Amino acid sequence: MAPSHPDPAISRHVAVIGAGAAGLVAARELRREGHSVVVLERGSQIGGVWAYTSQVEPDPLSLDPTRPVVHSSLYKSLRTNIPRECMGFTDFPFAARLHDGSRDPRRHPAHTEVLAYLRDFAKEFDIEEMIRFETEVVKAEPVEAEEEGRGKWRVKSRSSDGVADEIYDAIMVCNGHYTEPRHALIAGIDSWPGKQIHSHNYRVPDQFKDQVVIVIGSSASGVDISRDIAKVAKEVHVSSRSTSPETYEKLPGYDNLWLHPTIEIAREDGSVVFENGKTVYADTIMHCTGYKYYFPFVDTKGEVTVDDNRVGPLYKHVFPPALAPGLSFIGLPWQISPFPMFELQSKWVAAVLSGRVSLPSQDEMMKDTKAFYDKLESSGIPKRYTHLMPDDSQFEYDNWLADQCDYPRIEKWREQMFYIGFKRIYAQSATYRDNWDDDHLIAEAYDDFVKFTS
Ligand code: FAD
Repeated sequence: MAPSHPDPAISRHVAVIGAGAAGLVAARELRREGHSVVVLERGSQIGGVWAYTSQVEPDPLSLDPTRPVVHSSLYKSLRTNIPRECMGFTDFPFAARLHDGSRDPRRHPAHTEVLAYLRDFAKEFDIEEMIRFETEVVKAEPVEAEEEGRGKWRVKSRSSDGVADEIYDAIMVCNGHYTEPRHALIAGIDSWPGKQIHSHNYRVPDQFKDQVVIVIGSSASGVDISRDIAKVAKEVHVSSRSTSPETYEKLPGYDNLWLHPTIEIAREDGSVVFENGKTVYADTIMHCTGYKYYFPFVDTKGEVTVDDNRVGPLYKHVFPPALAPGLSFIGLPWQISPFPMFELQSKWVAAVLSGRVSLPSQDEMMKDTKAFYDKLESSGIPKRYTHLMPDDSQFEYDNWLADQCDYPRIEKWREQMFYIGFKRIYAQSATYRDNWDDDHLIAEAYDDFVKFTS
């Protein structure tokens, strides 16, 4: 186990909300830096999204705000879409365990292997002893009264022991952002008689046997789920907004799977008309349309809002200038390799909390954040893409974080492997998990892993 930081300037009492991959590594980094840590986790085990459950919510679109929430959005057949070597934490390789028959050694393993990896991580760093399971944070707000300590956080949590009301020096929000569905807006949908479901509530294809299904969305989940359903359905029609309006193609390798552009209208007689003029009579529409950021328990008195899926204002996607460093968000960026980024963000927050690393002034952080938002706007990038990190920006950001903490930058092989892997998803959607041509990068990765595994 790596040693704790030898001489932290200040030890803080910190609450980490959530014990998914982000919360686990946040807890490790905080403790390494000398802080005292409590992880509050609503579920009964670690892993967050990776704790697959066959359970789904009673409302298949998850629209009802009073519904019982099921956290994980994984489907049974899911295998990772990122190659394992570049997916893992930087100092705890997600290497294939070839000699353990209970493990999945594939390069894009099943979700069970990711959960097993996170369990190994939690065990290696004794993280479970910091976690309070079945403890849901219902409210986290800044302490106002001077006598209780301005800058501190009041955290109310609910468990079988009742409601706890505690004061922390800081909170790190690690609650994930793949649980609260975002839906497609479809003209005429209110009088369309078929069934609708969001991919959050999709587990197995059985219920779609012999049906005609429309899958809206062609990113990672849309690609997987349409193919999963095509195994049993009569027809599957994928509606994509990133294809041309005339598109009408049968997808290679299938005789019942078609690609269309967006839906123009859904009608009372059960028909759905696509922008390419084609009409399909469908039984079900599956929304694979992503998720919203959602922090119902964080009350910042208006300092942080979610506006068109921009969580802001946040300095470098982590600290709200007015509430830093007491409040931080881990894991907001997307289209990235999440685990290494969670790790670097957590190192940065831990070092800022101990005083080892300084933040700019509130004004400077605000100016920097505003300049970033202005740049997005002048480039025509909508607010909802604020936390999207395309092309080079992910690794530039990771390396900026690493520099703040005096930690080594992201390995070149990891960067290249991510890019090549990302392109492969779209170039060979049906086969990318089992066919690749970057063996030289795998070899480099395993050469590098030796320093952590020997
Ligand atoms: P989560 O894993 O969602 O964990 C959040 C935790 O917070 C949960 O345990 C939850 O119970 C807890 N929580 C929430 N609210 C509260 C509360 N109020 N009080 C207490 N606890 C609370 N990433 C990859 O790297 N590779 C992949 O191949 C990949 N595939 C994916 C496929 C799908 C379908 C999805 C949905 C995501 C995928 N991801 C993938 C992204 C994945 O979300 C991240 O890898 C990562 O696991 C997210 O970790 P997290 O800790 O931020 O959030």
